[in-house]
Amino acid sequence: MKKRRNIFILACVLFGLNAFAGNPISPLSNNNEPSHKDTVKADLSKALSVNDSLIRFPAYDVYTDFDTSVIHVVEKMDLANFKDSIRILVNDPQYCGYTHPFKGYTTSNFGYRHGQPHFGVDIKLEIGDSVHAAFEGKVRIAKRNKSYGNVVIIRHANGLETYYAHLSKLLVEAGQDVDAGTIIGLGGNTGHSFGSHLHFEVRYKGMPIDPNELVNFAEYKLKTDTLVISRKTFDYASKRINNGGGSYAVKTNGGKGKPAYVRYYNVRKGDSLSLIARRYGTTVTLLCRMNGIKTTTNLQVGRKLKVG
Ligand SMILES: [Zn+2]
Repeated sequence: MKKRRNIFILACVLFGLNAFAGNPISPLSNNNEPSHKDTVKADLSKALSVNDSLIRFPAYDVYTDFDTSVIHVVEKMDLANFKDSIRILVNDPQYCGYTHPFKGYTTSNFGYRHGQPHFGVDIKLEIGDSVHAAFEGKVRIAKRNKSYGNVVIIRHANGLETYYAHLSKLLVEAGQDVDAGTIIGLGGNTGHSFGSHLHFEVRYKGMPIDPNELVNFAEYKLKTDTLVISRKTFDYASKRINNGGGSYAVKTNGGKGKPAYVRYYNVRKGDSLSLIARRYGTTVTLLCRMNGIKTTTNLQVGRKLKVG
């Protein structure tokens, strides 16, 4: 009985993949884009050799492929024609709930900073700290990227994808199934990163979603069982909000060479110079020098400090 069921599931998967590979249902397919045929096939053969019975690609009703080489999905949400809302179950007991990727404080939030998009939440960690998968899913990307550094992207059954960037070491590979809590890599400072931290993103059909919509980063747990995605979810794209907490600005470096990044921090209640210095791996003396202040200067909430 069990065997027959496995064969049935395999047949379903193969039929489904055939439909993807034939690509008749991809309305946004573009001749300039690389073909996903090969990656899907390669992934299937790898999955088949590892597990010859149960193969599944999460959220195959949302995505038309499972590309293990291109970072962001090519077939993005059509925001212009998106009028309804989508309800996404994020805390399905069937999928073993949620694990916070790394229990550390956040150093930078989601939003636009000085016109530069920051599509994730940064969590402070030290190089070598274990980074966990937030939800159960299948690893779609596990490789090195110029800006993300070593990055893992996991696709989940509800259609969400979570990104874990700047890792020092990858401990999973594309096509691998993970549980909520699986250690997928070690924290690091690779790619476009200044100081070791985890850059954590949540996307739906390639569109970034503020992770704060579903995660309480102060308490390391989910905020809601159901995430409702509507036009409002993507308001940031037009409003270019600045959530505060931290920001980057591009400095031209005297017009020579590649731009250097100046890192700013907005002073919050309860902050002290030594606390901020520790957070950003600098010293009180350097902070004072960078900002032209004294150790005795009264730090007003909201004041912008250069931190690196
Ligand atoms: Zn980041």
